[in-house]
Amino acid sequence: MFKLSYKLTVRERVQGKCDRHPRYNPEKDGRAGIKGGCSACYSLLDLHNARLKLDAAVHEFVRRAGPWARPREPRRKRKTDAPTPDEVPEV
Ligand SMILES: [Zn+2]
Repeated sequence: MFKLSYKLTVRERVQGKCDRHPRYNPEKDGRAGIKGGCSACYSLLDLHNARLKLDAAVHEFVRRAGPWARPREPRRKRKTDAPTPDEVPEV
């Protein structure tokens, strides 16, 4: 039997800009938009590509896990110290 549980939370807010090419946008311009082999622009492109790969990997994982996934059971409520009215023993 194969058993796993998986929890992933990634929160990053990124605002990247090349000092020499402030108008470069890896989403729109891609690799062809990089001028003179600028390393900062390549870093932005690599970051963009990493994000796309991450999205694709998470999507693929969820898609493949779907048929085997068990819905999470709601958390059990702790019993309170004070008995509820229907738990009070009759005298
Ligand atoms: Zn640049």
